[in-house]
Amino acid sequence: MSSPPPGKRRSMQMNYKIALVPGDGIGPDVVTEAVKVLDKIGEKYGHRFQYTTVLAGGAAIDAVGECLPQNTIDVCRNSDAVLLGAVGGWKWDTLPGDQRPERALLGLRKELGLFANLRPALLFEELAEACPLKPEIIEGGLDIVVVRELTGGIYFGEKGYKDTELGRAAYDVEQYAEEEIRRIAVVAFDMAMKRNKKLTSVDKANVLESSRHWRNIVKEVSGEYPEVELSHMYIDNAAMQMVRDPKQFDVIVTSNIFGDILSDEASMITGSIGMLPSASLAKGNFGMYEPVHGSAPDIAGQDKANPMATILSAAMMLRYTFGLSREADDVEAAVKSVLAAGGRTSDLARPGKEALGTKEAGDLIATAVGK
Ligand code: NAD
Repeated sequence: MSSPPPGKRRSMQMNYKIALVPGDGIGPDVVTEAVKVLDKIGEKYGHRFQYTTVLAGGAAIDAVGECLPQNTIDVCRNSDAVLLGAVGGWKWDTLPGDQRPERALLGLRKELGLFANLRPALLFEELAEACPLKPEIIEGGLDIVVVRELTGGIYFGEKGYKDTELGRAAYDVEQYAEEEIRRIAVVAFDMAMKRNKKLTSVDKANVLESSRHWRNIVKEVSGEYPEVELSHMYIDNAAMQMVRDPKQFDVIVTSNIFGDILSDEASMITGSIGMLPSASLAKGNFGMYEPVHGSAPDIAGQDKANPMATILSAAMMLRYTFGLSREADDVEAAVKSVLAAGGRTSDLARPGKEALGTKEAGDLIATAVGK
């Protein structure tokens, strides 16, 4: 079935085109397991997932001499969603910055118009012991989503050097246009509507003009979402509150640089990097889904990687791009059931305890989905 461009996907579509970008290191290991789980969902609910595997990162450099071939961009654009493993590795570490495998990620974000990054920080009760916070702080679990603006702000603003009285100075400009703020705010409010109708916008409006602009536009957008309880918080306070009382947060929306830091802080609370999914969305629900972790070259191809972050990323794909909440719930419940039964991959297992291999973990989750 042919697929319209990103953002134009028809509703009620039962066939979904997914571009698979396994990448490097453990990327192929974990993507294989996520596909196993998606296929089980397809079987159970009558959907057809049609995959096209493309190259990116070091694998693409080795095969065709560049980290993001045009064919990869084309296939991703012509798909309903993208599932990515990870890119990079020791083999390519000596290449100059602009030729490194990791450039493929920036290229994909830009080419696919991915302006919103969603990073859930979900603490599974079963893994509470991995949380570095005191048990009373996280009692009852933790479920936060950080919505980070991904293609604007200081990382993309004007930058350079100039001579000053104090010597050579370097500068990076934080700049946000109305539409950039509005569209990320809409993503965050929509997310809040699907969850607990609570949104915290994080900025530094006591100091930065760009933050005052941010706050004003977010307030404007809030007029369209009267049911959502909106609050504003300065980034320094938010960073502190995240470890003091993280349960006060539900959905957080923030700029590129603040989101970069806050999403990592939030995710640390949940324990292992092998459990963290993410999504990057464009207009119209098109999205690229990937685990937060990297290519872990130290364990690549050894059946040691935890595939749960990628499987949970696939669940986000079901929920946010395909609108299949029941199926997404099913995948998340399957992961939880494997954890509840004591299943732990090497990153989660206590020293001396037996760990599940990557394939075994994927099999158990797929079986739990099939029930
Ligand atoms: P990493 O996330 O790859 O690994 C950090 C540590 O966590 C390693 O000890 C690794 O074995 C472990 N780990 C990571 N994922 C795991 C999993 N699913 N299961 C079990 N253990 C896991 O970070 P790094 O070592 O800093 O980077 C390795 C390479 O990955 C570098 O080339 C880096 O640039 C790249 N990278 C890519 C992405 C991406 O593709 N999105 C993100 C971060 C890093």
